[in-house]
Amino acid sequence: MRAAVLQLPGSLRVIDAETPRPGRDEVLVRVKATGICSTDLMVYQGRQPAPLPIVPGHEAAGVVDVTGPEVVGFQEGDPVVVEASWGCEVCAMCRHGQEALCPDRVSQGRTRDGTFAEFVVAPTRALHLIPPELDFSLAQALISVACSVRAIRRGRPGFGERAAILGPGIAGLILSQLTGENGASHTTVFGTREWRLAMASSLGANDTVNVREDGWMERALSLTDGQGFDLVFETSGDPQALIDTFELVRTGGRIVVFSIYDGPVDGIPAQLLYRKEVSLVGVRGGGGGYPLAIDLVRSGKVLLDSLVTHRLPLEDAEEGFRMMERRDEGVQRIALLP
Ligand SMILES: [Zn+2]
Ligand SMILES: [Zn+2]
Repeated sequence: MRAAVLQLPGSLRVIDAETPRPGRDEVLVRVKATGICSTDLMVYQGRQPAPLPIVPGHEAAGVVDVTGPEVVGFQEGDPVVVEASWGCEVCAMCRHGQEALCPDRVSQGRTRDGTFAEFVVAPTRALHLIPPELDFSLAQALISVACSVRAIRRGRPGFGERAAILGPGIAGLILSQLTGENGASHTTVFGTREWRLAMASSLGANDTVNVREDGWMERALSLTDGQGFDLVFETSGDPQALIDTFELVRTGGRIVVFSIYDGPVDGIPAQLLYRKEVSLVGVRGGGGGYPLAIDLVRSGKVLLDSLVTHRLPLEDAEEGFRMMERRDEGVQRIALLP
């Protein structure tokens, strides 16, 4: 099969690799589309640890090609989405039903070869059937929807609350479609690029704030009558945005950190954590969020069409990373079609 292999940070090559074989309870999936997520970009740049060489990628949809001898519930030709990672099933976290927090998680494109390939093997517990009418280039983004479902569950928007979302990337623009649906009366999306903020306005945001503009914090707080936001989602991965969340959140409010950072963030205003009695919550991955994510997309409550802006052949994976690095105008989610 063809696979894109990261040999060294910043050096990706498409090679002929051996097609993996499914084990007893595993399925070989023919990858029809795989998204380039910002986490993959960090692996590509060497900003997240991964054993090299490795096939990057963790957001994929495709069709079942071969099933292992003990597989039930899936057959050849079934359209599926593959979870980004899965638990070991035996550690204390997995046994407590918190697979998402398993310290020994198998993470595609991080701890083992990922989805930038023609085929990928996964255990049945990491597969979900998807509606046959759903385009694969959109279905790959179900992983991002599942992560957003977890962010909503962790943040628990309440009836009439005011929500802030920092970062109008794919995660932020999925969340902007869900906060109102889940009770928030008003959602404000924060970013640096006008075209992305315009997308937010068309996908559920009641207001947008460009943090490059003078006086943006005052304007933001004025949207809450000076009180601050009940609930703040940090999805940008920008250390300064994480610091800003402490200013934006109201006294007694919640901050949901739904981002991956290179390392520690200096300058966290810890005094506000105390003074405002803020609840600070992390979100990692989409485990447990997939069935609802599929329902939300099937029912049209989450729209993905405008979020997947580019479709490239696998051979152009490296160009895809460069488009993201350059922050090219109009690039949101890039789907590779192996
Ligand atoms: Zn991702
Ligand atoms: Zn485990």
